[in-house]
Amino acid sequence: MSENTETIFSKIIRREIPAEIVYEDDLALAFKDINPQAPVHILIIPKEPIAQLADAESQNQDLLGHLLLTAKHVAQQAGLNNGYRVVINTGPDGGQTVSHLHLHVLGGRQMTWPPG
Ligand code: AMP
Repeated sequence: MSENTETIFSKIIRREIPAEIVYEDDLALAFKDINPQAPVHILIIPKEPIAQLADAESQNQDLLGHLLLTAKHVAQQAGLNNGYRVVINTGPDGGQTVSHLHLHVLGGRQMTWPPG
């Protein structure tokens, strides 16, 4: 796990900066992306500050499953009945800009492939 896990998302978890939170439980927080790339764009983060997917370990297996099921839950909650996309950008080549593991849930329009 990364040593430096303090990010803007840590501040959102501690409510030190505002966010439009749409779901929360003991393990995860979901909030609207500040720069949405689709009509629905929600980020899901673990409260435990794993920096990136590449740092996840077998002990995080249940948490990773929980984050995926949270993605399903928030997508349903947002009314994305016709499908959606879940994205995890990882590391520099993956386009990750915030070093706190997060899932993007994108929906409300037709997604294209390949992604950029
Ligand atoms: P990534 O590029 O995969 O690391 O995604 C980071 C995401 O965090 C981007 O989509 C940003 O728009 C989003 N983001 C950054 N700061 C905030 C914030 N304060 N509140 C909500 N979303 C944010």
